[in-house]
Amino acid sequence: MEKVSVESKGYFGEFGGSFVPEDLQIVMNELEQQFLRHKDDPEFIEEYKYYLREYIGRENPLTYAENLTERIGGAKIYLKREDLNHTGAHKINNAIGQILLAKRMGVKRIIAETGAGQHGVATATACAMFGMECVIYMGKLDTERQALNVFRMELLGAKVVPVSKGQGRLKDAVDEALGDLVQNYNNTFYLLGSAVGPHPYPTMVKHFQAIISEESKRQILEKEGKLPTAVIACAGGGSNAIGAFAHYIDEEDVRLIGVEPAEAPTLSEGVPAVIHGFKCLTLLDEKGDPKPTYSIAAGLDYPGVGPEHSYLKTSGRGEYVTVTGQEALDAFLLLSKTEGIIPALESSHAVAYAVKLAKELTADDVLIVNLSGRGDKDVEQVFGMLKNKEND
Ligand SMILES: *Cc1c(COP(=O)(O)O)cnc(C)c1O
Repeated sequence: MEKVSVESKGYFGEFGGSFVPEDLQIVMNELEQQFLRHKDDPEFIEEYKYYLREYIGRENPLTYAENLTERIGGAKIYLKREDLNHTGAHKINNAIGQILLAKRMGVKRIIAETGAGQHGVATATACAMFGMECVIYMGKLDTERQALNVFRMELLGAKVVPVSKGQGRLKDAVDEALGDLVQNYNNTFYLLGSAVGPHPYPTMVKHFQAIISEESKRQILEKEGKLPTAVIACAGGGSNAIGAFAHYIDEEDVRLIGVEPAEAPTLSEGVPAVIHGFKCLTLLDEKGDPKPTYSIAAGLDYPGVGPEHSYLKTSGRGEYVTVTGQEALDAFLLLSKTEGIIPALESSHAVAYAVKLAKELTADDVLIVNLSGRGDKDVEQVFGMLKNKEND
């Protein structure tokens, strides 16, 4: 199998790369150099690990979901508890890593884009912690639908800029943020939230999320004395999944399973195309534009996906499956009742597939489900969905 590394200039097979205007490419080149310069520096690693431990609360547990396992029958199900991190999801791992890099670069101003607001909140949190100026670009429509997250970011000291250009959605917010970066790159760092975008972002985000599988591998060896049959994670842009897979990619006996919403099946049905500055499997409409998607989980609602997942899919190393919003909702309810853990709707997609797969396997098999986040943010939405059903 072809090895992929940073040295391949951000290419994973035919996917990845950097397709941006020249002035932005200069900024990307500088960012790559800085990342390569600092990432293996022992002091940098020590600082990153310090904040993982003292601020995020790592390492988080790999919990044996005994009740769920007994209920389902079949494989043993373990949960990697990213939901227990400060701010309630995996996104903070990456936000802290990138902000430490920004600090090394002497930058004092952080910008980011956000859709539903989760990455905006993680970024604003990290900025508050490190005393950085923080500007979050958010589609105007999204600021209206996610007023509480806007307030949260403002509480944390961030300035939220509503973007009304275009459709007032995530893509327009990304364009505004990139425009800001090109103008202000001397003092500004663009903190990107998933394993997407032009090189070096997918590689950098994987680097900071790989802590998930670094821990889970050690933990499963301690608990079971062997590697898991499969690692299962939901995939929107793909950052929690690539972090959960990273340390198993070279372990060919471990199945890597990414779970997408059936309503946004990028990897299952996408075609190779360039979007948002990189090449990946993408859902396109008849005109060749990124196709609008709708998932009950806002974090999975993206027409593209990280380049490395595109490569893992086409090379056959990774398996990518879909579950419906209804199946995810059922899994949300099931995990809450059986384990006392309310999962994020995104993570519920991974739980739903694990439940299906566990039944086909035996008690000798071990599954690790990456529980990317907690469901507190989704409780009101689920309340509404269940109420609507009752009224049907
Ligand atoms: C943002 C988010 C996701 C999706 O993003 P990835 O980059 O695909 O990981 C998944 N789960 C939770 C809880 C999220 O907040």
